[in-house]
Amino acid sequence: MSSYNVYSASPVFEMARRQFDQVADHLEIRLDERERVFMPKRVLAVSCPIHRDDGSVAVFQGFRVQHHLTLGPTKGGTRFAPNLEVGEVAALAIWMSWKCGLVGLPYGGGKGGIAVDPRLLSPRELESLSRRYMQEMIPFIGPHVDVMAPDIGTNEKVMAWFMDTYSMYLGRTVSEVVTGKPVSAGGTAGRREATGRGVSYLIARACEMTGVNISGATVIVQGFGNVGSVAAASLKERGARIIGVSDDRAALFDERGLDIEDLVAYQARRGSLAGYENASSIAPDDLLVQPCDILVPAAVERVIDAHNAGKLRCRILAEGANGPTTPEADRILRDRGDDIFVIPDILCNSGGVIVSYFEWVQGIQQLFWDETEVMDRLYRTLERSFQAVIAKARAEQLSHRDAALTIGVTRVLEAKRMRGLFP
Ligand code: NAD
Repeated sequence: MSSYNVYSASPVFEMARRQFDQVADHLEIRLDERERVFMPKRVLAVSCPIHRDDGSVAVFQGFRVQHHLTLGPTKGGTRFAPNLEVGEVAALAIWMSWKCGLVGLPYGGGKGGIAVDPRLLSPRELESLSRRYMQEMIPFIGPHVDVMAPDIGTNEKVMAWFMDTYSMYLGRTVSEVVTGKPVSAGGTAGRREATGRGVSYLIARACEMTGVNISGATVIVQGFGNVGSVAAASLKERGARIIGVSDDRAALFDERGLDIEDLVAYQARRGSLAGYENASSIAPDDLLVQPCDILVPAAVERVIDAHNAGKLRCRILAEGANGPTTPEADRILRDRGDDIFVIPDILCNSGGVIVSYFEWVQGIQQLFWDETEVMDRLYRTLERSFQAVIAKARAEQLSHRDAALTIGVTRVLEAKRMRGLFP
């Protein structure tokens, strides 16, 4: 494939490309077909001006990348994070495509966001920026074109503002343009918890396969946001002992087990884990290499790399985050043989987009399911996908990541081949 493009300066994009190349070699995809399958279809970059509370005007850069439109609308999160750049957003959109392909959803991958630290905005400024971003996106998105959801730095409230802004523009409520909304504004039961509970479900399955007893198993979770905190709480409910957690400001460790409810309440009050006094602090880099049964990176990309992959002392690596493990680290983990059971990101955190799909379907039909039905359908979809990955890995002697990517890429490739090339 040609090496220069608008995304190519990004190490995260290069990581997505290397993963794809490996799978494309395995699938023996013709070289002239690879670029068509891999490169994002389109990207929009926007400047979002807002009035600051002091009366000045600030301009923030926003993006939206739509990877492919072959199977239906694109679907994916919106990230508000400092230093966000378009190559990272593109990589996340591409991973969403493979994820939707793997779990069988009628979507291509999308992703977007704004380069901003939302904690540095007042609530009014955050609302202005969210609404302005959505307003700039209106010509580019829609319930059958591209459907947004939350990701790092955004939440149910931001999704409600997105939906309201789009709906005001159209003059009627269009709840299905966004997922991850509050239940009180057209969301679905179970969406907020879906990703973390899905991570926990798959960990329980991995425990069964590896002979780890989840009751009393030790767990370390990096990232204590939507995914990490819910996964921690759900694993605790399954009997596991959470011995370490971290966010971007603090890392905490206690061999006897942390009080997750207390930590969630503390974080809700203080905005972070920093200053929490009922557990010892540990250096964030050291947290990942402490002995534990289950390690859950649930924060950002590329935290498991060539420097620490050989030092991990977990039995199960459950990738709640997107792209936490670099290709160099993957090679090291593979060379370690069977000692770490990896649940790759596109499987591990797929509960979020699965329940987003349920929310979209319910919004279109205006027929709502109760939480039991949502969770039951979620776990059935996860189970089917988990079994498909394990079977593929065994049959073709692949790592779990390559097996999952192979299934996801194949679905997109076959759809493109069947539809042909227009005109
Ligand atoms: P969030 O904003 O709710 O939480 C992110 C957490 O990570 C925060 O606690 C933050 O402080 C922490 N963090 C950031 N940088 C860190 C670092 N360097 N070290 C330790 N902690 C750090 O975001 P989220 O929605 O929980 O998303 C987390 C990850 O899960 C992302 O990779 C996201 O793409 C992925 N994901 C999210 C969903 C979802 O439904 N929200 C679905 C699938 C995948």
